[in-house]
Amino acid sequence: MELDILSIAAHPDDTELTCGGTVIKMGEAGYRTGVLDLTAGESGTRGNAPLREKEASRAGKAMGLAHRENLYLPDAGVEDLREYKLKIAQRIRALRPRTVILPYWEGRHPDHYMTGRIGYEACFLAGLAKVPLEGKPHRPHKILYSTQYVPAVRPTFVVDITAQFEKKLRAILCYTSQFSPQKDMQNLFPSRADLRERVGSLARHFGLMIGARYGEPFVTREVTTVDDIVNLPVRSI
Ligand SMILES: [Zn+2]
Repeated sequence: MELDILSIAAHPDDTELTCGGTVIKMGEAGYRTGVLDLTAGESGTRGNAPLREKEASRAGKAMGLAHRENLYLPDAGVEDLREYKLKIAQRIRALRPRTVILPYWEGRHPDHYMTGRIGYEACFLAGLAKVPLEGKPHRPHKILYSTQYVPAVRPTFVVDITAQFEKKLRAILCYTSQFSPQKDMQNLFPSRADLRERVGSLARHFGLMIGARYGEPFVTREVTTVDDIVNLPVRSI
């Protein structure tokens, strides 16, 4: 299998929340998109692993994914272990993505930032010939970091997801176990109505940066090459 884009995420629903609109948009453009979830989210207060797996598969369909799989690392236990990096690297070799999306390397939840860190190292390991892995070496051409969970980080670029926003919301809503009908739980688990407002206001915030209605933010570590500075797609004033 050769993917154009692979999102590596700590928990099912992270991709949907952080870069789902972008993944949907790339699928609509004809690219083969995939998600590698590192854990099944079994430590979450609500739901359980089999239920979240079903939800993830439904959400994957809503995003138009060509592929989705789970590595079943322990939830709340994504650690800086060589064993984990090799497991991820093995999947990168098998899926051969051109672009990889990782969560930003800092943040509140250790699983999220550790996924960003070990995901980066796994991309490197996957390209080395002399590591104990099966298959041909493969190194992704580009690594992008999604900064949605760390809104204080200024993005390198924002993807306009205005046309994909409703689909993104539908994909998130596939995780029915994560939305609370109870008022007292709504700080941790938003209701469906509240979700639209939360997801919408963040997307609006990043959209405003590029003069679009809704956007999703990314950071790149590498400097981007530019040939034509007249037609740079920056926000018009
Ligand atoms: Zn998460």
